[in-house]
Order: sequence, then structure tokens, then C-alpha cells
Amino acid sequence: MVAVSTWKKQLAASISQPSQLVTYFNIDPVPLQAAAERYPMLITPHYLNLIEEPGDPIWRQCVPDPLELVADRLFADPLNEAAFAPVPAIVHRYPDRALLMVAGTCAGFCRFCTRKSRVGRSELCFSSQQVIEGIDYIAGQPGIRDVILTGGDPLLLEDDTLIDILARLKRVPHVEIIRIGSRVLVTLPERITSVLCGKLANFQPLYLNTHFNHPRELTPESAEACARLVDAGIPLGNQTVLLRGVNDDHETMLALFRTLLTMRVRPYYLHQMDLAKGTLHFRVAVERGLEIVEALRGRMSGLGIPAYMFDPPGGEGKLVLTRDRLVGSAEKLRIRTLQGRIIDLPEG
Ligand SMILES: *Cc1c(COP(=O)(O)O)cnc(C)c1O
Repeated sequence: MVAVSTWKKQLAASISQPSQLVTYFNIDPVPLQAAAERYPMLITPHYLNLIEEPGDPIWRQCVPDPLELVADRLFADPLNEAAFAPVPAIVHRYPDRALLMVAGTCAGFCRFCTRKSRVGRSELCFSSQQVIEGIDYIAGQPGIRDVILTGGDPLLLEDDTLIDILARLKRVPHVEIIRIGSRVLVTLPERITSVLCGKLANFQPLYLNTHFNHPRELTPESAEACARLVDAGIPLGNQTVLLRGVNDDHETMLALFRTLLTMRVRPYYLHQMDLAKGTLHFRVAVERGLEIVEALRGRMSGLGIPAYMFDPPGGEGKLVLTRDRLVGSAEKLRIRTLQGRIIDLPEG
């Protein structure tokens, strides 16, 4: 008999239907059904346990909401990734970096996900052959120094599959660093086994960026998972998305970033949300985001203050949001992009 690992059992015990919520909460699941059919739902037991009541910051991130179906003018592919995909598993937008999409699914479907129209579906599930084609593409582009494994969540791959991908990338002489983007530290900390950490330690310099959005996600289990990775020599960064009703106040951010620093996780980016279809109810005005970032200055170590980033629709590239990028009046704010274009911001 082959022993099934703890993380796989936990993943298998996730809930994927709103009707399963009634075991834990006194709610009517019927109004949530349509959104769950349009955009898949998956909540691990660990993450489900963090919900204290319906509508709280954890709930909002993982439970389908009828507001996801409100007609908006947002985009199924907000960053126009399809236009930057020379082969299916690659997004190559910047000369020195490329994304390699190695997994089509996640240990939890974030309701604000930029790829919510594709994640958990066949569109994002590339075959091992397509992943190898992606690595061949990288091997043929000497300008690429930095490869970011993403998806989906790369840490949902079996250890052997992940290690094989890392080993192939490591053999490409111009690839200087590899990064992994993963949210399992938040939703499935059991995945970060000592065995996995021991294997990853062979691929330094290897960085991992994770995705904590709220202080209540900083559980002892997640802290231990972070410690195992850092002890294996893997520096951790964190990308937070600014989300209405989740973390859109500076006290919450302060608690989040301070505690992350104690866990040896460096806050890297605070993202102004991508303009992804079905996420309008999460939007926070840029003005509010700037106020939050400004409120952090002076109240905490600069080490804990992330850059406030925006990736404008169309895919011309990320920019740091500062007051001097804004033009127009408070009523009608617009942004000057890196290429000097002036664009509107739907503020929700
Ligand atoms: C965000 C992103 C990166 C990484 O950007 P950094 O600012 O280096 O973290 C690379 N490629 C694409 C397509 C991206 O969207």
C-alpha cells in the first residue's frame, strides 16, 4: 500500500460546493450556486477553519459571491497574457523575465484571482510536453535570467514533477534565478514538508513569493511552513492584493506586514487589483491605497513596506503607484503609464 501524504488528504477533503458550507455556517447556499458554477470554488479544511463568520475577510476571499456575476466592463484576460505567449505555457513580457505556467489549479480558488476565468479549467492545464516546450523556449532566449514558476500553483505538483522542471531550468546557463509563486503556505501549509524543502534547497538561488492578504491567515501552521523554507535557504517574499472588505485599512496592513517580518517573509508588492472580470466588488480606489501605504510610513520598518504596484490592462508592464503618477481631479483620477499613456481607472 502506498501511503497518501497528509497534504493530499487535506486537499482531497476540500469543499467545492456552496451546499457544503451549511455544515459549518447558518446560511442559504442557493444564491451562491451560480457564481460557483461560473468560477470554481475550492476551500481546504485549513482555510475553512479560519472563517469566523460569513462575510468576514477570509470568507470574502474564498466563498463565491453573486456579485461576481454582475455585468462589468472588466476583462477575462486583464493583462493580455495571450498576446505575450510565444508558446502556450510561457508569458514573456519583460526582456529578462518570463512566467512558466506549470500547474493549472490551486489549493483554493481566490475570488479575486486575475486568472479566475481560466484557473481550475483546461485552459490553464498545460501538458508536460507543453511545459518542456516552455523550457525549450527559455533555453533559446539568452536574455531571460529570471524564471517565475506559476499557474495555478506550482506546489500542487508532485515533488518529482516539480524537481524535474527545476532541474531542466537549472541546466539552462543563462537562467540565473528561479522564483516560485505559491499560495499553499496560506491554504495548505502541510504541503511544505521537510522532504520538499530538502529537495528545493538544491536549486538555489531559488526564491518563493507567497500571498498572505490578512493577519488571520498568519497561523502557527503557516509560520512553521515559512520557517521550513527559509531554513532551507529559500528567501520568502509576499504579494498582497488590496481588497475591499478584506484589508483596505492601514491597521490591518500594519498587523499583516509586521507579523510577516517576524516570520522572515519580506512584503514585496501590494497590488492594486488587476481589472479581472467578476472582481469589481473587491476594488479599492487608488487614492485609498495611497493613503494606506502613506499611513505605514513612520509606523513601521521600511523593510516591511511593499511597493504599491499596478499592472495596467493590456500588458505594457507593472508600475509603482505614487501620487505623481496620478492626473486629473479626485473625482476622475487617471494614471500615467510607463509609456506615457493616460488611462482611466474603474474604481468600482
Ligand atoms: C509580474 C510579472 C513578472 C515579474 O515581475 P517582477 O516585478 O520582477 O516581480 C514577470 N513577468 C510577467 C509577465 C509579470 O506579469
